[in-house]
Amino acid sequence: MRVLAVGAHPDDLELLCGGTLARLAREGHEVVMCHATTGNKGSYVHTSEEISRIRTAEAEQAATICGAEHRTLELSDGEVLAADVGQRRLVVDLVRETRPDLIITHSPNDYMSDHNEISKLVFDCSFHATLPLFATSKPHHNQVTPIYYMETASGLGFAPTEFVDISRVIEIKVAMLQAHASQLSWLRDHDGVDIVQQMRTANAFRGQQCGVDYAEGFVSSLTWLRCRTRRLLP
Ligand SMILES: [Zn+2]
Repeated sequence: MRVLAVGAHPDDLELLCGGTLARLAREGHEVVMCHATTGNKGSYVHTSEEISRIRTAEAEQAATICGAEHRTLELSDGEVLAADVGQRRLVVDLVRETRPDLIITHSPNDYMSDHNEISKLVFDCSFHATLPLFATSKPHHNQVTPIYYMETASGLGFAPTEFVDISRVIEIKVAMLQAHASQLSWLRDHDGVDIVQQMRTANAFRGQQCGVDYAEGFVSSLTWLRCRTRRLLP
């Protein structure tokens, strides 16, 4: 399988579905980790250009730890907008270039606009990518790809319908998240949170719900053309 995971910011995939991506990569699937923005507005000490470079390098390192290909759409924080025609074309081309069998992205009801807008962008453009007359330089994709929504931040308002056991890859997930050193200190300073500890707590809670040590939860997009008869998650 080819798996396309799309997060809003450079650390979102690592935090919200990193264990599942690590499992998919280790089980022989091709995994692409794409963050929409460069994380260019999250710093008290760096300029936007500096923090963009730092965070892109951190995301590359995290993707390497995962065993995934790294990509970014190079948008700006706070400016992800599903109605923007240019951004729609970027995501259509992302789907056409990666030709996924499975897409993982944000839940539509998360805590900040970039997450919700990228969720809508990916949902919309995974369909538009199949339209030959939605003309870009890339050939159209041959299927409307199934979509799984990953956890919201801290799991609030999110009731998983599928679980993935990440107990054996939890330390890989921690290493992926710790690759984002600049974001870990930003979240401590801006939000007063140790995000690695929060992740362990959230994944232990999901694990408790399904009888394993650590788990990640997902909800599939139950929409026409996106349902399959076999389980796609590990
Ligand atoms: Zn984010």
